[in-house]
Amino acid sequence: MTVYSSILSPPSRVWRVIWSWEGPQRLRVFLWLVACESLLTNEARVRRRLAVSADCPRCDANVESIIHILLDCSSARQMWERLISPSLQPNFFSVSLQDWLMLNLVRPPREDWPTIFVSGCWLLWTWRNKELFCTDFD
Ligand SMILES: [Zn+2]
Repeated sequence: MTVYSSILSPPSRVWRVIWSWEGPQRLRVFLWLVACESLLTNEARVRRRLAVSADCPRCDANVESIIHILLDCSSARQMWERLISPSLQPNFFSVSLQDWLMLNLVRPPREDWPTIFVSGCWLLWTWRNKELFCTDFD
């Protein structure tokens, strides 16, 4: 395994869970990019000299990493708080990205949760992209 492929490969258990998830292929690939931390967030865009600021365009208070867009940003948090039972929220909001994916795909609070979870992540990512790159998006 090369250094490059090890950087882009999430732990094998996450890999197996993502590729066995029975959802649309487009969302499975998106989930894979999340697990590999390969989405072009502002943090990644600054590293590649594609942007001058790594700040989150929504809250301006934090570096825009993947976990920030999908979980920690105030808009993401508001969405998840409406979907997650209050008793499950402390664990939901306090794990690493890899653990968060495993928690929601392997041990979901209800049977249909993985589909809701992946769709929510996709929605947050597409909203972010529209806000950042589409001048006529409100
Ligand atoms: Zn933010």
